[in-house]
Amino acid sequence: MCESGRLYLCATPIGNLDDVSFRLLDTLKNVDLIAAEDTRVTAKLLSRYGIRKLSVSFNEHNARARVTSLIQMLSSGKDVALLSDAGTPGISDPGVQLVQAVLQHGLSVTAIPGPTAFVVALVLSGLDTRRFLFEGFLPKNRSERERRLGELKDIPYTMVFYEAPHRLKATLESLVDVFGNRKAAMARELTKVHEEVVRGTLKELFNSISPDIKGEITLVVEGSGPRAETPTGHLARLVASFVAEGVDRKTACRVLSKAFGVSSRVLYNDSLAIK
Ligand code: SAM
Repeated sequence: MCESGRLYLCATPIGNLDDVSFRLLDTLKNVDLIAAEDTRVTAKLLSRYGIRKLSVSFNEHNARARVTSLIQMLSSGKDVALLSDAGTPGISDPGVQLVQAVLQHGLSVTAIPGPTAFVVALVLSGLDTRRFLFEGFLPKNRSERERRLGELKDIPYTMVFYEAPHRLKATLESLVDVFGNRKAAMARELTKVHEEVVRGTLKELFNSISPDIKGEITLVVEGSGPRAETPTGHLARLVASFVAEGVDRKTACRVLSKAFGVSSRVLYNDSLAIK
């Protein structure tokens, strides 16, 4: 019986193709197959280092079917490298599905560590790095996004979010609405020629950022704490007290939102979190 192969989770540059390790290049040269989120993106990295290797795509659209064929390859003794478009496979991409299948089949997996965007953004943000929460992408739908932010709002750790450029303004608006005006940093095009880190408050970021902003973006936001401003917190508590006295939540929110000029939706979501 042949010995089974190994899956290598290979972290690759998040922009600057010089950010590779000797071990990464050796691994890419020696594996039998590369499974890449986008084979065209990976082809640029391989060509830069003169590596010619069979590549197949492994992405959110074909992950389920590909897991089966990759498990067969690994079981038959082939070594496979898994690559994200940028950064570490398994972070905000379908890599975890393959890792779980590999473990279920008793096969071997190891990692070739390297860049990941959230760590670079976090250390450049200037915010507290002792404890942090990596959230990845927030829901695209506004009310789902704000509900999720409501769950995160009291966490005292720095938070890191991935976001698409065309959704950045809407996400900053939700962050201001739900978190209040905390410190934050917007890290864009990290390690690339146009690398930029804008630091300030959430409101300053919202006001300074163009809706046409382009590029890869990671947001870092201060955790809750004595300095975090929660402008509607006292009103949300008032809503919760009214509800405890039998007043309908929507009615309480509507009345208070009119009286104090705040968002009824934000009050509603915030009041749900109050026991
Ligand atoms: N696996 C990747 C990692 O380890 O960082 C993340 C994959 S996720 C699909 C892609 C997101 O990462 C982008 O939408 C952006 O939010 C963030 N990102 C990737 N490259 C970046 C860069 N150079 N600068 C800032 N953010 C980046």
